[in-house]
Amino acid sequence: MNEVKDLIIIGAGPAGMTAALYMARAGKSVLLFEKLAAGGQAALTHSIENYPGFEDGINGMDLSDKMRQQVERYDVVFEYDSVESVSQDITTKIHTVTSGAGNSFQAKTILITTGTTSRRLGAKGEDKFFGRGIGTCAVCDGNFYKNKIVAVIGGGNSALEESVYLADIAAEVYIIHRRDEFRADPFVQDRVKKHPKIKLLIDTVVEEFVGDQKLNKCIIKNVKTNTLSELAIDGVFLYVGLDANTSFLDLQYKDKSGFITVDSENRVNKDGLFAAGDCCSGTHKQVIIACGDGAKASYSITDHLSKL
Ligand SMILES: Cc1cc2nc3c(=O)[nH]c(=O)nc-3n(C[C@H](O)[C@H](O)[C@H](O)COP(=O)(O)OP(=O)(O)OC[C@H]3O[C@@H](n4cnc5c(N)ncnc54)[C@H](O)[C@@H]3O)c2cc1C
Repeated sequence: MNEVKDLIIIGAGPAGMTAALYMARAGKSVLLFEKLAAGGQAALTHSIENYPGFEDGINGMDLSDKMRQQVERYDVVFEYDSVESVSQDITTKIHTVTSGAGNSFQAKTILITTGTTSRRLGAKGEDKFFGRGIGTCAVCDGNFYKNKIVAVIGGGNSALEESVYLADIAAEVYIIHRRDEFRADPFVQDRVKKHPKIKLLIDTVVEEFVGDQKLNKCIIKNVKTNTLSELAIDGVFLYVGLDANTSFLDLQYKDKSGFITVDSENRVNKDGLFAAGDCCSGTHKQVIIACGDGAKASYSITDHLSKL
């Protein structure tokens, strides 16, 4: 068992890294867990144009690297492993975190900043072709589709913005959306509608993904006419929603969709368990908001520690 830290943060996305920065600067001992790579969802977007300070926008991985390097200037211990469980001793109030590698770590407080994971569609053939033609990260996999035909499924900002990114690489990009209106900002919609390589398939859902070893077509259905047709395709990117990464947490702390419920001080309970960022119920899923929430949580945690 390691020394008892002031704070263990679970998840090194924008929320977790901001909180780590604030807490380390306040002189607290911090252990920051990350199961994949620092940056979280922000690292998976090609261009972030609404984070202040970068007038031409900034690549998500570059912004994530800058955040990580800033945190590394301080005495924050990074632990690259997943957190599998969180518990608390009723008498001492010390929290114990167990990692995927089976190690235990202790702290006086815990901050959960585990963010979200892109949701799967649930269509026939999806499991077979996931990772072999179907993905959730255009920045990671887009380059495999140079001069090929891809489809993006979804109607929000992420779907439309990543379509524009893919259109610079692929020969053609179809946006498949089940409604006749998009949720994305009007500015982003305009960009998509004017793009010569992007075609919109509205009122349309994917019924099945088809191929041999690799995906080569989708069976799509127009939901207004119930007509089925085939769409030849090399790759598909899903942007159909987000699920909170909270499976290790008790149901009592979550809303019915699995997002963590917190009070205005980012408290999950009154015993030193806090949460911030996209994994929380009702937050707008944006980098600036996740950062702000992480900073706000750090003040509540400092206050909690001062009363122990
Ligand atoms: C394609 C796309 C485009 C986007 N574009 C924009 C944009 O232009 N502007 C904008 O402001 N926002 C954008 N966003 C949203 C933005 O990325 C998120 O709001 C932001 O990253 C949320 O930060 P977070 O720290 O709360 O969570 P996340 O970024 O999700 O980070 C959570 C971290 O926790 C880690 N983790 C999860 N579970 C565990 C565990 N059990 N143990 C250890 N580590 C764990 C994850 O690996 C991850 O690194 C975009 C998102 C996507 C997917």
